[in-house]
Amino acid sequence: LAVKGVQALSPYQPGKPIDELARELGLDPAEIIKLASNENPLGPSEKALAAAKKALESICLYPDGNGFDLKQALAKRFGVGMDQLTLGNGSNDVLEVIARCFADANSEIIYSQYAFAVYPLATLAIGAKGVEVPAKDWGHDLDAMAEAVTDRTKLIFVANPNNPTGTVHTADAIEAFLDRIPERVLVVLDEAYCEYLTGDEYPDGIKLLERYPNLITCRTFSKAWGLAGLRVGYAVSSPAIADILNRVRQPFNVDSPALAAATAVLEDEDYLRRSREVNAAGLKQLCDGFDNMGLSYIPSAGNFVAVEVGPQAQSVYHSLLEHGVIVRPIAGYGMPEHLRVSVGLAKENEHFLDVLAEALSSGG
Ligand code: PMP
Repeated sequence: LAVKGVQALSPYQPGKPIDELARELGLDPAEIIKLASNENPLGPSEKALAAAKKALESICLYPDGNGFDLKQALAKRFGVGMDQLTLGNGSNDVLEVIARCFADANSEIIYSQYAFAVYPLATLAIGAKGVEVPAKDWGHDLDAMAEAVTDRTKLIFVANPNNPTGTVHTADAIEAFLDRIPERVLVVLDEAYCEYLTGDEYPDGIKLLERYPNLITCRTFSKAWGLAGLRVGYAVSSPAIADILNRVRQPFNVDSPALAAATAVLEDEDYLRRSREVNAAGLKQLCDGFDNMGLSYIPSAGNFVAVEVGPQAQSVYHSLLEHGVIVRPIAGYGMPEHLRVSVGLAKENEHFLDVLAEALSSGG
């Protein structure tokens, strides 16, 4: 019964739930280490938690459908108008709404090989044709993506940094790419991991909006801001694009605890600073560990890293699971010899590295 594009879909594969694995292994859930979904290992910001708890007192009421307070805080932080913002139930929601607004069954949507799984999902769900451009050095081949534009192209998804590879492009590269894209084609710059970037060489997709009216920059509270469970993301665009997105999104797509927590966490600079510090240190710890084991990995700009464990990746994944460590196999992304591991706290990373070394020495 489903339309053709939907029949071709394979479902998004979330990480195994902690409680389920703990039950299977007969362990306490506290003993499980989940490094599978690029979550923030710090736990939530106290300020966000307090705001979400307070918002629970009003859950018999609909949330503010316009997300006024959160939009006001975001507009202030980024120096944009509130009319440039679209809030979503996670940035996944925003990505889907964008596809629904600007493409249809006659359209082509371009994305890269090894790019974030939701791009093909959002594309196929509306019956559009997905044009997957082969990657270069595990990252987006921006030249080839620009060359793939046809008269039917409506949208291009670019993840910077990308998940699951962690690859990132400089501002120069992104601007050179945007210069090549005709204005009738919208470019979605997905900056879910941008808060982890350090260095002036990387683009700020919100600043680029002034120069590129066909750009939509998407961000999330799920990663560096530590609110993955509440589902809040947003797009920043021209007011004209935001107007269309806001017509099509669900009227109450972000719930009140999520709105309150996201608004509060934007005031918690200390939390953001710690997120970045813990991530930088943890990423280095993981990569040093891989170097010591002689394993290759894709240098990452995110809060995760794809490590190459070879053809036995699936059995390594299972033996990590048996030791209570959950990582992410990425065969579904066409990377069957890699595992993606999210950066945890120092102790979690250490335990993961120990268990990985053991799994590899026992042949998976
Ligand atoms: N974009 C990228 C590149 C991601 O990796 C993710 C999360 N895995 C998202 C968007 C969506 O995040 P969320 O829906 O939690 O905002």
